[in-house]
Amino acid sequence: MSKRGIYMHSFSHYIQDSKVLQAIEDLGYKKPTPIQEKVLPIVQSKQDVIAKSKTGSGKTAAFAIPLIEQMNWEENKPQVLVLVPTRELAVQVKEDFTNIGRYKRIKAVAVYGRQPIRFQMTALRQKTHVVVGTPGRIMDHIERGTLHLDQLTTLVIDEADELLHMGFIDQVEKIIKKLPTKRQTLLFSATYADEIKRLAEKYMKTPVFIEHEAKE
Ligand code: ADP
Ligand code: MG
Repeated sequence: MSKRGIYMHSFSHYIQDSKVLQAIEDLGYKKPTPIQEKVLPIVQSKQDVIAKSKTGSGKTAAFAIPLIEQMNWEENKPQVLVLVPTRELAVQVKEDFTNIGRYKRIKAVAVYGRQPIRFQMTALRQKTHVVVGTPGRIMDHIERGTLHLDQLTTLVIDEADELLHMGFIDQVEKIIKKLPTKRQTLLFSATYADEIKRLAEKYMKTPVFIEHEAKE
């Protein structure tokens, strides 16, 4: 049975904010990918999400678009923290937030190791809506008191399987313990290993499980 008819909506079916819709149009995204169609409304409803789908299926925009739509520009401290396994991904995800949040003037900052920490400290002192980073450097900033997460509303754990493979899971857990407990948590992964399941059970609130096995 063909499922093609299910994915018929445009972004404007989900997103009301014209500033976000304009940014999506600038990026050349014509319609949501299947994983975006599933994840977008659940993120908007503020529920926790575990999304499992293959690389390249559009997971970054699946969380960045609804989070940017909800973001409060007035707030000076970070509202969203995205944990990623590599500096390349930190830069990429930061760019995605910057592009999608362009007309809302959303400020995203990437922090990662092997870059002078002072440079990042200067960036974090300005108004920052989104912080994207690798676990080691994020923890470093928390401990130095240069990253204030008391206004955080959403934690995103991106590429959880890679974070696990690279040995970052204990550090991810240490960071989670520093965050406000009243928050939304979103977890993205290509696989769902036992250690990730354990983390989700411990720190997420009845997450909605979304799986998309691409057949195209
Ligand atoms: P994943 O995290 O699932 O591996 P990404 O978020 O990195 O995937 O997205 C993969 C590519 O698809 C990126 O180049 C991104 O710009 C592009 N992309 C994302 N959403 C859409 C869309 N709705 N339409 C077209 N391209 C998209
Ligand atoms: Mg991704």
